[in-house]
Amino acid sequence: MLEIHQIPVLSDNYVYLALDVETGKTAVIDPAVHEEVLAALDEKGWMLSHILNTHHHADHTGGNLALKERIGCRIVGPRADRDRIPGIDVALGEGDTFTLGKSVARVFDVPGHTRGHIAYWFEADNALFCGDTLFALGCDRLFEGTPQQMWDSLSKLRALPPQTRVYCAHEYTQANAAFAVTVEPQNRALVARKAVIDDFRAIGRRTVPSILAEELATNPFLRPDSPDLQRTLGMEGAPLVDVFAETRRRKDRF
Ligand code: ZN
Ligand code: FE
Repeated sequence: MLEIHQIPVLSDNYVYLALDVETGKTAVIDPAVHEEVLAALDEKGWMLSHILNTHHHADHTGGNLALKERIGCRIVGPRADRDRIPGIDVALGEGDTFTLGKSVARVFDVPGHTRGHIAYWFEADNALFCGDTLFALGCDRLFEGTPQQMWDSLSKLRALPPQTRVYCAHEYTQANAAFAVTVEPQNRALVARKAVIDDFRAIGRRTVPSILAEELATNPFLRPDSPDLQRTLGMEGAPLVDVFAETRRRKDRF
């Protein structure tokens, strides 16, 4: 069993600590920075054993070397991008598992945002650490990948159990919601969720993690099969990857 602690850092990043309760082993996921991570470990009394990176961007790996130097933890990251992960010890990809004490994560290759991007799914805890691939009500830009790659990646995540908690790496939800209602204005669940998100953000409350079931119902990047979305885009019956690509293009310009 995992206990998960969320640390907001920089302007909108989330770093996570995951404690394997039985053994005391602790991983940090995407440490953008090191000082806040050290402070949180100290406050919790948790001992860091691993750094898990989803991809190479500095706002996910910026704390790697300082944490490794001070604590001697092992750094785990995407095999497809091992040359760009500072201090990497263990490179993982599709079908691999990562074991933290008694907790086991399945690893998925989810490229599209970057060439090498992985997600960690702790099935027994219904916890998905997906970096910048899937956000609450969004997904990140396709800096190094194609729409087909990103759609394949999101399709893997979309197939996970609906009760999965989505621990993404950014608090972008309110801006994502503002866009989402422009492409699926008829979606009542989406309109209702946007109202809750706006209320939450007005008082500085976090909207992450979310539950995959609500993403399936409201996140336009997981919904290219929605007839309403297809109609808004003028793409009724088009291949899902094309609908996804057009949704992403519109978000880039929003
Ligand atoms: Zn990124
Ligand atoms: Fe990021």
